[in-house]
Amino acid sequence: MPELPEVEVLVRHLDPLLRGKRIRGVTVGRAKIVRPETSATLADRLVGATFGATTRRAKYLLFDLRHGTRSEPFSVVGHLGMTGRMFLQPASAPLPKHTAVSIDLGEQRFVFEDQRCFGRFNLDRAPLAELGPEPLSDDFTADAFSEALGRSSQAVKVKLLDQSLVAGIGNIYASEALFLAGISPLRRARSLGREEIGRLRDRVREVLADAIRFGGSVPLDWSGAGKGHALFYYGAKETGPATRSAEERFAVYGRDGEPCTRCSGEVVRCVQAGRSTFHCPRCQLA
Ligand SMILES: [Zn+2]
Repeated sequence: MPELPEVEVLVRHLDPLLRGKRIRGVTVGRAKIVRPETSATLADRLVGATFGATTRRAKYLLFDLRHGTRSEPFSVVGHLGMTGRMFLQPASAPLPKHTAVSIDLGEQRFVFEDQRCFGRFNLDRAPLAELGPEPLSDDFTADAFSEALGRSSQAVKVKLLDQSLVAGIGNIYASEALFLAGISPLRRARSLGREEIGRLRDRVREVLADAIRFGGSVPLDWSGAGKGHALFYYGAKETGPATRSAEERFAVYGRDGEPCTRCSGEVVRCVQAGRSTFHCPRCQLA
């Protein structure tokens, strides 16, 4: 599943490619993806509009659009779900089998492909209102983080995935940040001391920034099934040099049974709230 760094890398890739391009047509292949819009209402709103900036909020992609300079700008809200991919391809190339939305830009097409169909591409901004601060912004302060964690009796790992606490942290980077901070994922959020919370905040930011830097440096193939997955499945056992080097960057994620990189103890996997957690019980005392 794509996490914040993958979405950020994708946004930086798409922004210059889409900016200034005019939408000539919209074809919806999976109606579920554009709800509450229908294929017709989405096309009606989008055709004729020109792309402005493409930005990110948590794991959402925001595509700014406007019809001429005198009209009000508006945004399409996109989300990759579990298996979504977005890329540009030549207009003459055949569309992928699981094309959810295809946007005609003239010589090129902007394609949203989504095999499992958990993604979204519509005009509904409601989900954005429920999001907590961006982890890489100045809004994510140790004070706010401390206040939110202090109220919770949930395990800190589970709480880190709460998008209203801090937006965009997913399963991979929650395990990684807790390992780097030396904090057990099993501890209750409110048991963390002030210094630990400050450390965890810093490691969350560090692990995400590192992944974005890394993702931006990987040579990617944005089209073509399988090959393109190198970006979105950093942790998956895909073949290919880009994915392998990505996996090697994880300290604990997906490394259960392997020796800890710090103490040589064994990394263990457990399940919290239905999701896998990886940690070193020696370096991260409960
Ligand atoms: Zn260890």
